[in-house]
Amino acid sequence: MQHFPCPWCGNRAEVEFRYAGDAGVQRPTRTADDAAWAQYVHFRRNAKGAAKELWVHSGGCGRWFALSRDTVTHTITGSEPVA
Ligand SMILES: [Zn+2]
Repeated sequence: MQHFPCPWCGNRAEVEFRYAGDAGVQRPTRTADDAAWAQYVHFRRNAKGAAKELWVHSGGCGRWFALSRDTVTHTITGSEPVA
């Protein structure tokens, strides 16, 4: 079983976490056009290699954080709180 580093709780089993998407996606402004919203809702980079992902420690502290991970090797290089 893989372990993820929660910034507040330390290393915990992956079953305590839930994936919430690409941490690099920026939400459009309220006045953005339909094309910008479609891009935000439906399209992702789906990068092979280094990625920053949004996760929540749902089975622990309940806090959100960004996890830096290689999508090919599953090597985790760090985690940080998100606002
Ligand atoms: Zn935690």
